[in-house]
Amino acid sequence: MNLTLTRRQTSTVNVGSVGIGGNNPIRIQSMTNTDTMNTVATAQQVMALADVGCELVRITASDTKSAENLYNIRNLLVQKGYDIPLIADIHFNPKAAEIAASIVQKVRINPGNYTDRPSNTVSLTEEAYNGELQRIKERLHPLIEICKRHNTAMRIGTNHGSLSQRIINRYGNTPFAMAHSAMEFVRICKTLKYESLVLSMKSSNVRIMNLATRLLVSMLDKDGLNYPIHLGVTEAGEGEDGRIRSAIGIGSLLCLGIGDTIRVSLTEDPVAEIPVAQSILQAAACRTYKAEIISCPSCGRTRYDIQRAVKEVKNRCEHLKGVKIAVMGCIVNGPGEMLDADYGYIGSLEGKVHLYRKGELAFANVEEAKAIDILLEMIDKDKKTEQ
Ligand code: SF4
Repeated sequence: MNLTLTRRQTSTVNVGSVGIGGNNPIRIQSMTNTDTMNTVATAQQVMALADVGCELVRITASDTKSAENLYNIRNLLVQKGYDIPLIADIHFNPKAAEIAASIVQKVRINPGNYTDRPSNTVSLTEEAYNGELQRIKERLHPLIEICKRHNTAMRIGTNHGSLSQRIINRYGNTPFAMAHSAMEFVRICKTLKYESLVLSMKSSNVRIMNLATRLLVSMLDKDGLNYPIHLGVTEAGEGEDGRIRSAIGIGSLLCLGIGDTIRVSLTEDPVAEIPVAQSILQAAACRTYKAEIISCPSCGRTRYDIQRAVKEVKNRCEHLKGVKIAVMGCIVNGPGEMLDADYGYIGSLEGKVHLYRKGELAFANVEEAKAIDILLEMIDKDKKTEQ
């Protein structure tokens, strides 16, 4: 059975030194939660994120002053030797976007509030609707020109909770409306000959996020467009709830081959988002960060302390990136159920373990206390033979 993931073919959008889409790995990004006017605290958080594997960092620019301060943050990062691309997050403030676009490598705008203010506009006639699109085009034009001049990329990031009244009146408060909200801006950018776009559909409801993203992709396909897609569940929460919501929302789309960059949003220190984004990408078979360690739940057939064994195998073997190890409870079903693992660690008799290599028994009834040492020696020897 061929389980190779076919990733949706997308264009490459360069964000400073980091490419999103195309053949680039699926990128991990996060966002600072410091005050953007606090240059040192923000730069420190960006560095902490970069140190744990974050590849792009978004910083809010809520007004023109904080947009201007992105310059100081970027300079401090350069002085410290960090060239991680920065993204300005903009809501309601085209002027801040225009300032930020000449400083950072990408701007994120929300099509629901970039040019619109909340209103109770009733349904528009076709002529009035086209007039609205013309107004958006005129408002977007200066930003696009700055982005072109500075090679700045842009994310058109739609949020379910902040659709414009124009879009809601026309399409309802629906996933379909979310996709249309982005497509209005996409088509305007296209007429302005600007293509460095990344698109996202976010909601705290994973089903809405999933459906809106799939609708967006089908609309893009219909228009012959292949911009990269950013995935994330917004307001995912904290702890286990936030991790599960993010894994389902992001992972369900990754398994369809959709997604070029991801952000896990947790109500925690943003540094905590990065390992979650990495276990999501590895679980969806998109990127590899560490050894893959699987284990059975154990049952009445288990004759050894499998919970302790799996923790120890993880502890000592997780650095072996690219290796898959199965820790199984018994030799009755264990060998058959771990067939796609490179190595197997299977409880046999009381305090004894069988070690397997590629489904074949390599060492029988090894003392549990010595089993991991022998497993590591075997992996090391195999690696040397392969080289
Ligand atoms: S592998 Fe063995 S111990 Fe583990 S769940 Fe299956 S039957 Fe039970």
